[in-house]
Amino acid sequence: MNTLDERIISKAIIERYTEKLLDYLENDVSIVGGGPAGIVCGYYLAKKGVKVTLFDKRLTIGGGMWGGAMLFNEIVVQEMGREILDEFEINYKKYTEGYYTAGSIEAVTTLISKATKAGLVIFNAIEVEDVVLKQLDGNYRVNGLVVGWTTVNMAGLLVDPIVITSNYVVDATGHDADVATVLAKKGGVKLDTPTGSVVGERPMWAEVGEKSTVEQTKEVYPGLVVAGMAAVAVSGSHRMGPVFGGMLQSGKKAAEIIFEKLKK
Ligand SMILES: Cc1cc2nc3c(=O)[nH]c(=O)nc-3n(C[C@H](O)[C@H](O)[C@H](O)COP(=O)(O)OP(=O)(O)OC[C@H]3O[C@@H](n4cnc5c(N)ncnc54)[C@H](O)[C@@H]3O)c2cc1C
Repeated sequence: MNTLDERIISKAIIERYTEKLLDYLENDVSIVGGGPAGIVCGYYLAKKGVKVTLFDKRLTIGGGMWGGAMLFNEIVVQEMGREILDEFEINYKKYTEGYYTAGSIEAVTTLISKATKAGLVIFNAIEVEDVVLKQLDGNYRVNGLVVGWTTVNMAGLLVDPIVITSNYVVDATGHDADVATVLAKKGGVKLDTPTGSVVGERPMWAEVGEKSTVEQTKEVYPGLVVAGMAAVAVSGSHRMGPVFGGMLQSGKKAAEIIFEKLKK
């Protein structure tokens, strides 16, 4: 007897995905980049009831966290990030005073699991290629994203993207700071950085890099907040190596900045 109908399986997937995409065409916050900073940002916003979505161009979410350092799949988190490991209930071990280690696989999967259960809606394999820049109440601000399938871009097909409207956008795209870069280049606008544009990251200096990852997490242009390695790259701060406290705290700070602004 035939109990499984292939047409129903396909119809279910198409309908459910379409419902989800239509629902999130308009949202409070769109995060670009599903590395640790973006996921943590999404978790704290979703937990507060904000309508938030995250786009990543890759099939797998987690950005540069999976591989630890040089594919040694352990990460180091210093004291400043420990409260977030606790919040997410990620297991870790003390290595020496102020240094903790966690398995990168558990860290990534738990971040994703807790964030999605809190209400963060993730779209993978979708690449952000531009922003919506509009004059609203007389002032220019970023008001959304232009997105397309990663695979369409990989194939070099000439296909128009679609638009997602958001009150706030978070650039958590890592080293490339894709969103801030496209805004500065195509928008011809001045960002709140030392040069008014994307400065580019400086060589390794863990202590300064970690501090500035959090300090430089801010609204660099009305409607655009930078977080994680993107905040480092945009502001011209030092890279810091495979230590993740700054990335986690940066995601949390980005969520706090936006939540306060949404309340106004
Ligand atoms: C070459 C290299 C050097 C590194 N150097 C350092 C270092 O110095 N210090 C350090 O702490 N860590 C470093 N890392 C490790 C790691 O990348 C970061 O620390 C950490 O993962 C950064 O977190 P994040 O959340 O800011 O961004 P990432 O983990 O980099 O995640 C960014 C995510 O954004 C997505 N994305 C990018 N552009 C787009 C787009 N246009 N549309 C949609 N999605 C997009 C990517 O697919 C990715 O999943 C390095 C990694 C690499 C590969």
